[in-house]
Amino acid sequence: MINLLDLNKENLASVIDDKPYRAAQIFNWVFGKGLRDIEKMSNIPRKIRHDISHRAYIGYPEVAQIKRSSDNTEKIAYALEDGNIIESVLIPEKDHWSICVSSQAGCAMGCTFCCTARLGFTRNLSLGEIISQVLFPVHTYPERNFRNVVFMGMGEPLLNYENVVKAISIITDPDGPRISKRRITVSTCGILEMMPFLWKDTGAGLAVSLNATTQAQRSAIMPITRKYPLTGLIDALRAYQLPNRRRITIEYVLLGGFNDSREDARRLIGLLHGLKVKVNIIPLNPWPGCPFNAPDEKTVLAFEERLKDSPVAVMLRKEKGNDISAACGQLAGGTLNVDKKAC
Ligand code: SAH
Repeated sequence: MINLLDLNKENLASVIDDKPYRAAQIFNWVFGKGLRDIEKMSNIPRKIRHDISHRAYIGYPEVAQIKRSSDNTEKIAYALEDGNIIESVLIPEKDHWSICVSSQAGCAMGCTFCCTARLGFTRNLSLGEIISQVLFPVHTYPERNFRNVVFMGMGEPLLNYENVVKAISIITDPDGPRISKRRITVSTCGILEMMPFLWKDTGAGLAVSLNATTQAQRSAIMPITRKYPLTGLIDALRAYQLPNRRRITIEYVLLGGFNDSREDARRLIGLLHGLKVKVNIIPLNPWPGCPFNAPDEKTVLAFEERLKDSPVAVMLRKEKGNDISAACGQLAGGTLNVDKKAC
């Protein structure tokens, strides 16, 4: 049986094998309307519905748990068919909501400050497992006006490139959930060989987790730096082609006493000189067993001020959902995953 959620428009057309508009109609039922029952596709002839039902289904992961934070951020744990747990976060903004989705079960990158890294890597998520993290909230809570999708949950999206690209094409399709390309951001620890394709293949925004300003400092917290040295990453940022008004987001997690000094700020400004970027400062969200401390507030503000005094655009990311472990770097399927209780 084929899960229709695993098919993009093109794949769907080849499976349906009828007039081209038929695939678009079915696509709209599944992705635009969030229908879960093939028999209810009222504008599709009964014979075709039966035929599809014999070969395919619409299979969502089970919603295992929804936790709500005091600031209304919600963390959803999904149980996948093979028992893996992944998490998404729904984030309320002023007049809309954002969705933070996972792209892998666990993560292989091993960043020492990130709780997901503790799980290790299990596998890439299927297209259906990615897209259902968008479809479920969009169609369950239509009044929330979901407008942004960020690939900043569990996993490294550029290592599940094909499915992430397909998911973005569905999310932005006029017959699908119709979220604007401009409001989708893919965050990477810096998988250099995939970065140049992202813009061309999706039109989505790019965020890069920099988190350090020297090769030694970055290697100590992000093992990927041994494969792709910091200088290569900066060169790749310089070469990254974006239309005029768009900028790459640089994420910089502030780790208390490790990368939050005056010197670090100075080096960061120097490193980013001349690049079309905006820096997102993220004070560490600690988790039990985390080897770093959160920076104190004074240090965070001082760091922000130093960047503000430079030509580099900067924004301090407000911590959300910390009380339910839904903040950046805290996703680990925690309470549900008894074997992996460390996080
Ligand atoms: N693998 C991708 C996306 C997932 S991490 C990436 O590396 O970008 C999303 C963001 O959360 C990254 O910028 C990462 O640096 C940050 N992050 C990870 N652990 C964190 C923590 N404990 N506190 C704050 N931010 C964290």
